[in-house]
Amino acid sequence: MRTDFTAEQLADPATAVAEAVIRKCVHCGFCTATCPTYVLLGDELDSPRGRIYLIQNMLETEAVPTPEVVKHVDRCLSCLACMTTCPSGVNYMHLVDHARAYIEARYRRPLLDRLYRAVLAAVLPYPGRFRLAIRLARLGRPFLPAMRRVGQLKPLAAMVAMAPARLPAIASTTPAPARERRGRVALMQGCAEPVLRPEIRAATVRLLNRAGYDVVFASGEGCCGALVHHMGRDADGRAAARRNVDAWTRELENGPLDAIVITASGCGTTIKDYGFMLRDDAAYAAKAARISLLAKDVSEILRSTGLPPAVGVKPLKLAYHAACSIQHGQRAGEHALSLLREVGFDVSTPTEAHLCCGSAGTYNILQPDIAAQLGDRKADRLRALAPDVVATGNVGCELQIGSRMALPVVHVAELLDWATGGPVPRRLVDIGVEDRNADEMSIHSVGADR
Ligand code: SF4
Ligand code: SF4
Repeated sequence: MRTDFTAEQLADPATAVAEAVIRKCVHCGFCTATCPTYVLLGDELDSPRGRIYLIQNMLETEAVPTPEVVKHVDRCLSCLACMTTCPSGVNYMHLVDHARAYIEARYRRPLLDRLYRAVLAAVLPYPGRFRLAIRLARLGRPFLPAMRRVGQLKPLAAMVAMAPARLPAIASTTPAPARERRGRVALMQGCAEPVLRPEIRAATVRLLNRAGYDVVFASGEGCCGALVHHMGRDADGRAAARRNVDAWTRELENGPLDAIVITASGCGTTIKDYGFMLRDDAAYAAKAARISLLAKDVSEILRSTGLPPAVGVKPLKLAYHAACSIQHGQRAGEHALSLLREVGFDVSTPTEAHLCCGSAGTYNILQPDIAAQLGDRKADRLRALAPDVVATGNVGCELQIGSRMALPVVHVAELLDWATGGPVPRRLVDIGVEDRNADEMSIHSVGADR
């Protein structure tokens, strides 16, 4: 695509990166067919190609973003399906990330929008605050129908609706040494996942131990920064990245790490991009690039090193939902599928598997109408497979899909843990699956959370 940036504009490294991305786009429009917002809304400006035009014009003119431009950029899920489809290698992720930061710095949002975003940025990345917020949100349940009728309160209604009726007890798995040692990995502790689904971490530690890895937790590590990064809060996103780079670099001083293992694929996509996010920071660029190279989804490391032997569990029929962050962001969606089949599950994938479920970080709160349509559509496609269980590898997708289905939605790591000797996942107990591997639970201790 031809661009008209001035030499002065291109002297800014971030604008130069955006311009290089835009120039790669050849307007072919292949990406429109796989873009969830274009599929739903049918508006070119809600397609990747349309957004690239809008962003180019905004950056070239250095205009204050208009509400119209902000609307179409905000509607983008950052699902990155367009990057998988694009034949020209357009790095839409880096372009839209820059556009969001540009908007955040120059556009004054309506008061309520600012308030919602400030609350999300101040609460979600912090497990203690998030737990408290969930308790408070439950108090709003009786008012949900009224909130849903008022357009401006829909994000608040989405927050209240998202709060689980029951919150698991605070628990985290103590890192454990492997029985037969193959290596050493740091397991990312994350922010929202341990509050909502602490069993994922426990299952992953057992699984990695059984696969031969000593598992450690890096002290000082926290939220990956994706939640604020995708809201355009550039400085906050980079601060989170620096904190985690420091934490894992200190852990590397304690001994070599084969990988930094991540169980929430949305976080994995961001951590794999730390090298890019901190590329202009002389003190962090090299360290961040090293951390990005070490980052691996749990399915990725197990696929490359091999699973522990399967023990023969009930051969359930699974519908596998590959989160956008694993299939488009990391191009690694096939690993979980292969591993689940390898241990004996009957696994199928839905039609429109490439389309986002609408979770997308804070998207289901900030864009509740589009997110609900995508969530319903995804649940319908999964239901059509008539599975016993839905498997996925990202806690956001678990919640988004799980709130629309009676079927259990279970993390891939929990299923692989069970199939290789761990306890039956809690959600499968609810549908009557017997816990034949319960003795394995004694390997792992559960201690105080951070
Ligand atoms: S990231 Fe997803 S929603 Fe955004 S333009 Fe690309 S395909 Fe569309
Ligand atoms: S597929 Fe790629 S090159 Fe074609 S319009 Fe979309 S972003 Fe541009």
